[in-house]
Amino acid sequence: MRRNLEVARQSGPVDVMAVVKADAYGHGLEQISKGLEHAGILFFGVANVGEGRRIQAAGVKTRIYLLGATWAAERDEIVTRDFTPCLSSMVEAQDFDRIAKQRGVRFRVHLALDTGMGRGGFLIDELPELLPKLQSLENLEIEGLGSHLPSADEDEAFTKRQFAVFRESIEKLGGIDQFKIRHLANSAGLLGYEGEVCNLVRPGLMLYGISPLPAFQEKLSNVLTLKSRITLIRTLPPGHGVSYGREFVTSRPTRVATVGIGYGDGYPRQVSGKDAEVWIKGQRFPIIGRVTMDQTMIDVTGADEIAEGDEVEMFGANLSVTEVSKKAGMIVWEIFTGIAPRVVRCYQ
Ligand code: PLP
Repeated sequence: MRRNLEVARQSGPVDVMAVVKADAYGHGLEQISKGLEHAGILFFGVANVGEGRRIQAAGVKTRIYLLGATWAAERDEIVTRDFTPCLSSMVEAQDFDRIAKQRGVRFRVHLALDTGMGRGGFLIDELPELLPKLQSLENLEIEGLGSHLPSADEDEAFTKRQFAVFRESIEKLGGIDQFKIRHLANSAGLLGYEGEVCNLVRPGLMLYGISPLPAFQEKLSNVLTLKSRITLIRTLPPGHGVSYGREFVTSRPTRVATVGIGYGDGYPRQVSGKDAEVWIKGQRFPIIGRVTMDQTMIDVTGADEIAEGDEVEMFGANLSVTEVSKKAGMIVWEIFTGIAPRVVRCYQ
């Protein structure tokens, strides 16, 4: 991960917000934030207060940035913990100002600007008029301006336009001196585009070793490998069904290995019938029949060296999670964040 972090840093003269929401994309929030704490990160980006609490409870001192809108009932705690929210409305700003005043503190916030995501933020046309009012709130420090890219890995023309709109908006708002921290790019945005006025990047997926833009995949190091073991091997006669629905029926004597992992662990059931493979001892073997909740069957016919107890890689170092996600009709973000709590995380 630290190597991938360096790749993010090389995208320009930028600070980094490591996006660790959703349990650090399934990798384990406490372990990942502790592991990255001293790697010179400015913020950990989280989705909600609960995730921020967990990072602080782990003893991590790095600043916490809330990527989503805040809920009124949580704002007291946000100020107390000095989390940094990104504001989408005057009401939110006034509320934080009131709380900060009660506490006698000056509270740092960022403004979110909606350049096309449509999920939150001030609209481009409303912010020039609102900015002086926001800046006049005495107990708020408007430290930064951020926006988000909805299609940096899908639509180059739109994304370029968004970078331009962000730059133009900052000019209209009085120039870069108005905002000490300016940020727009997620992984695809920082790998594939010039940040121009930005001085902070917000990588998520690429830190976990996967580039949303295939052209940059070779720059990144694999981080996570999902493994299980063969629990049972049997030889089934021809004409024998395998798994629910009996969609797969053997056409020859078939040596079937049962692996102790299924969709209850977050391995996607959607790969069933899609010629998905696993990796064992340097070879690929096909999954046969439907992936069940806790067990998955593979065909190891002819590979007599494969035995019960052997380690099985579902994806990771040798078999790319991107391949699995495509077979499942999912995105890698979904696969990572779907790895179930019962899967034991081991760190090196
Ligand atoms: N910034 C924001 C606001 C996000 O919501 C996300 C993730 O969805 C990221 C950055 C990181 O995105 P990625 O994982 O594509 O790098």
